[in-house]
Amino acid sequence: MQHYSIAVIPGDGIGPEVMDEGLKVLKAIEESHGGVRFACDEKPWNCDYYLKNGRMMPENGLDVLKNYDLILLGAIGAPGVPDHISVWELILPIRRAFQQYVNLRPVKLLRGLESPLRYKNHDDLDFVVVRENTEGEYSNMGGRMHQGTPYEMAVQNNVFTRYGTERIIKYAYDLAEKRPKKRLTAATKSNGINHSMPFWDEIVKEVGKDHPGIQTNLYHIDALAAYFITRPEEFDVVVASNLFGDILTDLGAAVVGGLGLAPSANINPERNFPSMFEPIHGSAPDIAGKGIANPIAQIWSLSMMMDHLGHYEIGKVILDAIEQVLIDGKVQTPDLGGRATTKELGDEIVRQIHLATR
Ligand code: NAD
Ligand code: MN
Repeated sequence: MQHYSIAVIPGDGIGPEVMDEGLKVLKAIEESHGGVRFACDEKPWNCDYYLKNGRMMPENGLDVLKNYDLILLGAIGAPGVPDHISVWELILPIRRAFQQYVNLRPVKLLRGLESPLRYKNHDDLDFVVVRENTEGEYSNMGGRMHQGTPYEMAVQNNVFTRYGTERIIKYAYDLAEKRPKKRLTAATKSNGINHSMPFWDEIVKEVGKDHPGIQTNLYHIDALAAYFITRPEEFDVVVASNLFGDILTDLGAAVVGGLGLAPSANINPERNFPSMFEPIHGSAPDIAGKGIANPIAQIWSLSMMMDHLGHYEIGKVILDAIEQVLIDGKVQTPDLGGRATTKELGDEIVRQIHLATR
């Protein structure tokens, strides 16, 4: 029997709604697979917590989280609290403190779904974006000055260290070695931005020398965004800086069915700190409280968590259950064109997990 401790941060808006379904899936896995147990502790760290306490998490929050094997996040953000507080004081400190420098985001069209891209089917849409997750354009260096004067200005420093750039590119190449197309695409803007030229591109070329079996392509981010639409079948592993990866993966989510489906994993490959699993989407204030959010992104993130733990067969059971529900097409939330609730879709996935493992 393997035991894992999980810090669960449901968050705001639809975060707790989709998290409820994720926790049901974990329970179903415990019931259907004798070998694993999850001890989940909920942390009420969200915007309500901020409004009461003036901080997004307790002062020792990171110390508390450090003792868990894993972190599971719903979504953060509420209309009453500026995003630079809710995101900057919770999610970014976790990613940085725990050296979760790899943000893995699959762009994969599940069976049973149609892409909004005409003529593209699930063989054409199956790649993964590796987003740098601790530095780059999301550094905490910079700020605002001269507020309230005509000279007001905002400065944001982009931080690209050799160490940070090399390790993400190495991770991406190692991942490409394990994937079918043996292809790595790097997103840069080497005709316009300092960090891309020569820095990022040069490091890609250096690391690429150790991977002669991998075909490397360097694309400018603007052209690459267009290729996501016009020739997605070309991609296998796409490695990108923090901001480029963020933007590319919302686009990636859109071409495989929308934000309600798209999961992500914040990975600390050295495993000296917990990794964190979450949907790509935010707290969706426009549909929060209605019980109609799609829980698939959250549940798929659990499949990624199982893969991270080396429980590949369980990861596959979860993803197969999601696909089976989509192929059946009877229980779908409004974003998929159906009328089911979050809970009904979660229940249906749980039912499929039990069916598959009976
Ligand atoms: P969002 O992802 O919350 O919503 C964008 C659109 O997608 C909305 O129309 C929403 O209804 C829809 N959507 C998102 N998730 C869905 C789901 N599971 N099912 C069905 N539809 C879904 O992005 P936003 O509106 O830009 O941001 C809202 C808040 O979330 C902000 O406070 C933002 O800072 C925060 N945010 C948090 C995270 C995070 O927690 N990691 C990520 C992105 C945004
Ligand atoms: Mn984003």
